[in-house]
Amino acid sequence: MPATDSPSPPVTSSKPPPEATEVECECCGLTEECTPEYIERIRQRYLRKWICGLCGEAVKYEIVKSKRLISTEEAMARHVSFCRPPDPTVHLIATVRLILRRSVESLSAVKSMAGNDEGIEAEEMHST
Ligand SMILES: [Zn+2]
Repeated sequence: MPATDSPSPPVTSSKPPPEATEVECECCGLTEECTPEYIERIRQRYLRKWICGLCGEAVKYEIVKSKRLISTEEAMARHVSFCRPPDPTVHLIATVRLILRRSVESLSAVKSMAGNDEGIEAEEMHST
């Protein structure tokens, strides 16, 4: 009678959670703790620069509100010039206001984007 009793080895996860690194927003200087993976994703999206979530929203807003198609680079340049505040709180409030106004103005765009957190895709830019 063959011995088929082989105890399954304990499943050891060989992937420890990636360490969070502190990273600074190129626009407003806000620092956030993010995983290297996330930082890399943002850098790829924003021309090797890392920008915080709020600035990311603002850059997307620059693209959406623009009457013509602008590149991410141009949108970022616009946003950066808009956000050279003496006081970061001013920027924060301004950005939040922009986002709020945007969601009122383009409710339908937001609706079609529901569930899509990836942002900045092409269909968003074709909406006007
Ligand atoms: Zn920022």
